[in-house]
Amino acid sequence: MGKYDTYRQAVLEASLWLSQHGFFGSIRGTGGNVSVRIEAGSLMAVTPSSIKYHELVTEDICIVDLNGDVVEAKRAPSVETGMHAVIYRSRPDVNAVVHTHQIFGSVFALVNHPIPALFDEVSFTLGPTVEIVPYGLSGSTDLVNNVAGKLSNNANAYIIQNHGIIALGKDLDRAMLAAELLEKVAHIYCLALATGKAVTMLPVETREMAQGMRSYEAAEAQKKRDKE
Ligand code: 13P
Ligand code: ZN
Repeated sequence: MGKYDTYRQAVLEASLWLSQHGFFGSIRGTGGNVSVRIEAGSLMAVTPSSIKYHELVTEDICIVDLNGDVVEAKRAPSVETGMHAVIYRSRPDVNAVVHTHQIFGSVFALVNHPIPALFDEVSFTLGPTVEIVPYGLSGSTDLVNNVAGKLSNNANAYIIQNHGIIALGKDLDRAMLAAELLEKVAHIYCLALATGKAVTMLPVETREMAQGMRSYEAAEAQKKRDKE
C-alpha cells in the first residue's frame, strides 16, 4: 500500500458519491473536481483532469504540492488544481475542497446573485452569505485570483459566476455536506423567488453569530497550524 493511498481512496469515494448524486451536472461526465489536504498541510490529493468518475481507480488520484506542482501522479491533475491550492494556502481551517457544477447552485451562478442567510443550519455551516466569485476561464490564473479575492470572509461555500460552486470543509465529509446544503438552499431559494413574494431573511443577530462562528473557527485553525 502506497503512503498516500488513504487520501487517494477518500478522494475517489467522495468523487464517486458526488457524481452518482448528480453534483457534477451529469452522472457520467467529468465536470468538477475534489481534493483533500494531506496531513502536515503542504500537499494535497486531487482528482485527475477529464477522467470519468466511474472509471477512476485509486492510483489515478494525483498528489501535488500547494504550488500545484506534481509530487506523484500517473495522470494530469485537474485543471482547477491552482484553485484548490490557493484555498489551502489561504485558509488553514480548510482541509477538503469540492468543486461541482450542481444544478441549483449553478442557477445563481448564471443570474449572478449571492445566496443570503436563509436558514440557521446553512448560515452556521456555510457562512452568512454565499458570495459570487467573478467569472474567470476554467483553469485560468484569473479564476484562481478571483477565488483568492473572496476567501477572507471565511465562508465554506462560494458560487463561481457562469460556472458552478466551491464547497469547503474541515474534512471531506464536511466539504460534501457544504455542497449538499448549498444545493438545498439554492433549490429552496429558487422556488421561493419564483412565487414572486418577498423572501424573509434571518435576523441580523443570527447572521452576526454565524459570521462570528466562522471567524472563530478560522482563527483557531490558524493557531493550530502556527504550532505545527
Ligand atoms: P477537470 O476535469 O480538469 O478537473 O476540470 C473539470 C472542471 O470542472 C473545470 O472547471
Ligand atoms: Zn468546473
